[in-house]
Amino acid sequence: MSLKVVTIDGPAASGKSSVSRELAKSMGWKWVSTGAFYRGLAYVAQVSGADLSNESELSELALSDCWGVILSEERTKVFFDNKEVTDNIYKEEVGSAASQLSLYPKVRESLLAAQRACANDKSWLVAEGRDCGTVVFPEASLKIYLTARSEARAQRRAAEEGISVEETAKAQAERDHQDTTRKASPLQVPEQAHVIDTSTLDLNQVVEKVKSLIFSGFKK
Ligand code: C5P
Repeated sequence: MSLKVVTIDGPAASGKSSVSRELAKSMGWKWVSTGAFYRGLAYVAQVSGADLSNESELSELALSDCWGVILSEERTKVFFDNKEVTDNIYKEEVGSAASQLSLYPKVRESLLAAQRACANDKSWLVAEGRDCGTVVFPEASLKIYLTARSEARAQRRAAEEGISVEETAKAQAERDHQDTTRKASPLQVPEQAHVIDTSTLDLNQVVEKVKSLIFSGFKK
């Protein structure tokens, strides 16, 4: 049976978060960024001095109740020691650390239950990340894969963060390489996914494309 879930996967800065947020808002649905789990764990590991190369230590930390994730309309929030730390997790350097620890199968396994718990049979959920359509929600009703030219993606993120396009492009290329070539749940186009290239589309156009797929009854 299909879940009440729409998945949106894709590489760094392909527009997943903005599209998911706007789509969920306009449909009155919930949304979750599964990247926030990896970023949250990377941040918590960094500030608590955990060893980023120790898979067991990181997978234990992933299950610790010293931190957690809460869904909201504007963004997926991360709390650590009862304080919100969401503002700290969106730097490219935390993204790179997240990509590093996301290589570990035990870490991924530890985060999976909490990610799946975001879905239920009462309300619809938009879930975005790298393996939402393949591993987290293989039974999703609709799967989208967003892609965009690397220059377009670097320009987007550099403008958001106020840093150089070259530096951003380099960090993203490394992260994408790591995410697509890792053994555990690599970034890939899920079977039956609708692929949308966002290079020349604005946010509204992408959201409208996804909505037209939703209203056409999820057919591929
Ligand atoms: O999507 P976002 O850029 O926030 O994700 C940060 C990192 O977390 C990604 O580069 C990837 O390594 C990891 N990630 C993952 N699986 C997901 C979501 C994110 O491995 N479902």
